[in-house]
Amino acid sequence: MNNWRMRLAAFMQGRYGIDAMYKGLIGAYFLLIVLNLFFRTSFLFYLSLAVLAFAMYRVFSRQTAKRAQENARYVAFRDSAKKKVLQTYNRIKFIGTHRYRTCPNCKTSLRLPKKIGTMTVNCPVCHTTFQATIKR
Ligand SMILES: [Zn+2]
Repeated sequence: MNNWRMRLAAFMQGRYGIDAMYKGLIGAYFLLIVLNLFFRTSFLFYLSLAVLAFAMYRVFSRQTAKRAQENARYVAFRDSAKKKVLQTYNRIKFIGTHRYRTCPNCKTSLRLPKKIGTMTVNCPVCHTTFQATIKR
């Protein structure tokens, strides 16, 4: 048992290993498997195998700098996607009481109380003052 562990550690020496992108790829692999339970196409089957093969290739890769760059791009994409989903969720959640407007200077999304008419808004991020109109 201990010998087996030592051999695995020796094999993984200098190889990249597991990261956030690996977890995302494995999640995508299982999602494709579940989708294929319903659609039953060979395309989804081979696509899921390709995703799994790519995830394994990354784990055993010796080009750790390249893999780290890929992971950084993946994490940035994942975080911006999460932020957009959360913003959309909040826009729907507060649709009865609030409206969202974008600051013309710093492009920050601001949640304003739903008061019909034009109001003066002071951006809390860049302190720019601008007019926002809420029609309904
Ligand atoms: Zn601003």
